[in-house]
Amino acid sequence: MADRYLHWTNTRPGRLLSRRLGLPRPLPLHRWSAERPVLDGADILHLTAVPPRDAGAHTKELTAALEGSGLPVRTDDGGAGGGTAGGDARQPDRHAAVVVDATGVRTTAELRRLHELLHPRLRSVAECGRLVVLGARPDDADHHQAAAQQALEGFVRSLAKETGGGRTAQLLRLAPGAGPADAESTLRFLLSPKSAYVSGQVIEIGPPAAGAPSSSEAAAGLDREHPLQGRTALVTGSARGIGASVAATLARDGAHVLCLDVPQAGDELARVAEDLGGTALPLDITADDAGERIAAALPPGGLDVLVHNAGITRDRKLANMKAELWDQVLEVNLASVLRTTDRLLAEGALNRGTGRVVATASIAGIAGNVGQTNYAASKAGIIGLVRSLAPRAAAEHGVTVNAVAPGFIETKMTAAVPFFIREAGRRMNSHSQGGLPVDVAETTAWLAGPASSTVNGQVVRVCGQSLLGA
Ligand code: NAD
Repeated sequence: MADRYLHWTNTRPGRLLSRRLGLPRPLPLHRWSAERPVLDGADILHLTAVPPRDAGAHTKELTAALEGSGLPVRTDDGGAGGGTAGGDARQPDRHAAVVVDATGVRTTAELRRLHELLHPRLRSVAECGRLVVLGARPDDADHHQAAAQQALEGFVRSLAKETGGGRTAQLLRLAPGAGPADAESTLRFLLSPKSAYVSGQVIEIGPPAAGAPSSSEAAAGLDREHPLQGRTALVTGSARGIGASVAATLARDGAHVLCLDVPQAGDELARVAEDLGGTALPLDITADDAGERIAAALPPGGLDVLVHNAGITRDRKLANMKAELWDQVLEVNLASVLRTTDRLLAEGALNRGTGRVVATASIAGIAGNVGQTNYAASKAGIIGLVRSLAPRAAAEHGVTVNAVAPGFIETKMTAAVPFFIREAGRRMNSHSQGGLPVDVAETTAWLAGPASSTVNGQVVRVCGQSLLGA
């Protein structure tokens, strides 16, 4: 559904009036397209708050990982200036992104470096630009380091709320044993227009599994345009909405996509599958034998990417909710996800090393919502499943398990919400606008990528930093 307010506030009279009345002024977000695949701005500015241990190798690795963004990487702008590359970049006098390496910060006093580095430079970040702070996991054995590193979370989440102009801010945390090279695919995503509606997130990067390559090494051999070339993906609930967009995005990245949806959606499903050169699989995911039937439909090379997207709402306050509404939602959104994942892992249908499970949670599963006890329970259950299964799936099957948690996304589902509730849902986030299905799809594609094996057990909100559950 078109966001007419966003359009109006970007006309001349709309801009003037909304400014005078102090109304939210959403900016059209820069999303990825083949014509505009890189962020606006001259360069990525890479600053170091406190040199970490073995600073030389660390900084070299980080610079190499940042170069994946397709923009020049600078380590110095002379103090407080803007971008330096010039050329034909849009907003050439501004930085596309500022990345601060704070992995070496261990004390409260050292935190002050964030103020020193970012305070003079915030106005030189391009519209729809990026702020990324690289941190380390808070250390259970060192409460001074833990305090300083946890402080980064409050800092980044606040910065994301303040920055405006379509900009985002994220904290990327390195787990013990992980280095900047393991963050390559995540930095590539966060420093691109593909992450337009992801903001205020804390994402942990783990070390690669024993004997597995780092994210940078895995990315080195990849066709950048088609990182999923030769892979097979299955997307449940892909006849429409977010699922159709996920299927199209994985196909754009080179995957052969099996599109699954209920038999009643057969015509729409066949159209979606045909448009992206995939295969339609009409099947109710709640069927007892769904796992076996999916396994039987797979090509001989097995399955690389399993996206659990199918979901339903049956909203009523608990006092008015019949048991069957509870059962339907828990069955589609959670029980079937557990069953099919277990089945496909047990059969070895998910390929070791490239196997990825991406489940769909919701901010309702984090914050709760009136009329959605069943839905929020099912989506919170997804988060529990991801956190528990991820380490075991990686160790035993070489498969990662992550979730996306969408906020207000413009789909048929949200178009049906009453006007005032819809407007509140749309505006109550740092971008003052709803997300698009493609925002969830791009996030899924990053988690599904062959170079993302170091991202595991994460729940990434795609919500423009919604105030719900913040
Ligand atoms: P949608 O209703 O447009 O699409 C869901 C699809 O799932 C439909 O095609 C439907 O036929 C399919 N489906 C339902 N039950 C199924 C079953 N038993 N077997 C197979 N397929 C089944 O919904 P959407 O807005 O695109 O949402 C997609 C996912 O994102 C859902 O899990 C939803 O809970 C989640 N989500 C959406 C939003 C949003 O704002 N739209 C926000 C948070 C989370």
